Amino acid sequence: MNIHEYQAKQLLAKYGVAVPRGHVAYTAPEAHEAAKQLGGPVWVVKAQIHAGGRGKGGGVKVVKSLDEVWPTSEKMLGMTLVTKQTGPAGKEVKRIYIEEGCDIKRELYLSLLIDRATSRITVIASTEGGMDIEEVAAATPEKIHTVTIDPLTGMMPFHARKVAFSLGLEGKQVNSCVKTVLGMYKAFIDLDASMMEINPLVVTGGGDVIPLDAKMNFDDNALFRHKDIQELRDEDEEDPAEREAARHDLNYIKLDGSIGCMVNGAGLAMSTMDIIKLYGGDPANFLDVGGGATKDRVTEAFKIILRDPNVEGILVNIFGGIMRCDVIAEGVVSAAREVSLNVPLVVRLEGTNVDLGKQILSQSGLPIISADDLGDAAEKIVKAVKEAA
Ligand code: ADP
Ligand code: MG
Repeated sequence: MNIHEYQAKQLLAKYGVAVPRGHVAYTAPEAHEAAKQLGGPVWVVKAQIHAGGRGKGGGVKVVKSLDEVWPTSEKMLGMTLVTKQTGPAGKEVKRIYIEEGCDIKRELYLSLLIDRATSRITVIASTEGGMDIEEVAAATPEKIHTVTIDPLTGMMPFHARKVAFSLGLEGKQVNSCVKTVLGMYKAFIDLDASMMEINPLVVTGGGDVIPLDAKMNFDDNALFRHKDIQELRDEDEEDPAEREAARHDLNYIKLDGSIGCMVNGAGLAMSTMDIIKLYGGDPANFLDVGGGATKDRVTEAFKIILRDPNVEGILVNIFGGIMRCDVIAEGVVSAAREVSLNVPLVVRLEGTNVDLGKQILSQSGLPIISADDLGDAAEKIVKAVKEAA
C-alpha cells in the first residue's frame, strides 16, 4: 500500500526526522488559510497523488506571495496531472500540500528498501538527488552507494555515518543526516514498510539535512497490525478493479492483454500467463483465487475479469489439490450463468475428482471448452479468441 507525501512526512516526523512544516488542503480557501498559518515568505504548493515526477508535470509550484496561493491552488486542484509515473491517462489532483519553501543548497538521494538478493534492508544513497535515480544507476553506477543492514544488529550509528560520508557531508550536516537515516530505519521496521524513498534529501542553507519529498510503501501482509497506517489508504489512488478484488481476498493485477485468467496459486498463475504468451496471446490479468476458492469467490473473480472491456476470452486453470474439481466445476458453471458469459471460456481442471468435474462442465449446457493440460488450454483459448474476433 502506498501513501501520500504529506502522510509520509507526518510519519517521519513522529520518528524524530526534521521535515518542513506544511498542511494538507482540499480547497483553495483551505490552502490560503494553511499558507497564512505557515507565514512564508515562500510557499510550495504540491499536488498529492501516488506518483512521482510531479515537479516536471506542473504539480509542484513555488509561490512567493500569499495572494498567489489561492489561484495556484485553484488551478492545481482538479487538474489531471500527467507524469512519467502516472501513465498517459494521468491522475486527478484532489488534495494538495502547502509547505514552507526551503532554502536548498544541495539535492541528494536516499532510500531504504528490501534487497531481494541479500534479504536485507539496504540504504541507497547518491549525491545525484532530484533526478531519475534509475538513469543515474544506469549511466553512472559509481554514484550509487549502498549500505546493507544486518537484521541481528539493526541499523547502528556507524551505518548512518557511512551513508552521510558517502554523500560528501561534513560537520553539522553529518549529525543531521545521521538523525534522519536512523529515524527512517526505525520507522521502516516499526511500520513494516517495504520501501521509503526520499528524493530529494536536501542540504539547507542552515546545514540541516532534511527530506523534501517522501514516498512510502507498506507490506500489505503486515497491514493488519497497523490500523493507523490502514487509515491512510486513499482509495481514489487505487485501481477500482484491484480494489474490488482485494475486498474478496483475490489477488488481481490488471494487465494489457485480451485473455482473462482465473487460476489458483500464484505460481500456476504466473506459468499460465507465460504459456498464453507462448501460444501467441496476451494475458489481460494476473488472478490468483487462492487455495480455498469457493463458488462465491469464483463468481466474483469472473465479474472482475469481465469488467475489463479488453477481455475477449477467459482461461480457467485450476488444480484441485485441497479443493475438489467437482466443487470448482460447479462454481465455474454457476458463475458463468450468473454473469451471462458472452466470451469463449476454456477450463482446464486437474486433481481430485477431475472426471466428475469435467462431467459437470460438459453437462452444463454452457459452451465451455474443456482442456486436458496447460498447453492444450492455452492453445484452445488463443484459437477461440482469434475465431471469435
Ligand atoms: P516530484 O519528485 O514528484 O517531482 P518533489 O517533491 O521531489 O516532487 O519536488 C520536485 C522539486 O521541487 C524538488 O526536487 C525541489 O527542487 C522542489 N521542491 C519541492 N518541495 C520544495 C520545498 N518545500 N521548498 C523548495 N523547493 C521544493
Ligand atoms: Mg521527488
